[in-house]
Amino acid sequence: MENCIFCKIAKGEIPSNFVYEDDKICAFKDINPVAPVHVLIIPKTHIASAMELNDDNSGIVAHIFACAGKIAKIMGVDESGFRIVNNCGKDGGQTVGHLHFHLIGGKELLWP
Ligand code: 5GP
Ligand code: ZN
Repeated sequence: MENCIFCKIAKGEIPSNFVYEDDKICAFKDINPVAPVHVLIIPKTHIASAMELNDDNSGIVAHIFACAGKIAKIMGVDESGFRIVNNCGKDGGQTVGHLHFHLIGGKELLWP
């Protein structure tokens, strides 16, 4: 995906400090954090949104959640807790068209 900013970040074409990386995913700090800890976890391959997930490609979501605790620990919020959010589509507030999960913490979060 030529003009996808998160593909460029995943490929290292836009410099970014990964807080976590493996062969399938990477995690980096959100440029506009809404809490003291705000990390974006993305698949390295381009998936436009949760609407594009299916039985063939959704294993990446399991992998992201399998790594989320590790990433929370790296960010120091494993004991205090955190929230994982996916925004999908216009009304869901998705502004970047590459599947990503927000890992947010470092303060008590309001709900809803
Ligand atoms: P969405 O609104 O699509 O769920 O989340 C997109 C997130 O990506 C936003 O929180 C926004 O601050 C973040 N973001 C957009 N562009 C960049 C960027 O170039 N670098 C980083 N680190 N975060 C970005
Ligand atoms: Zn992409």
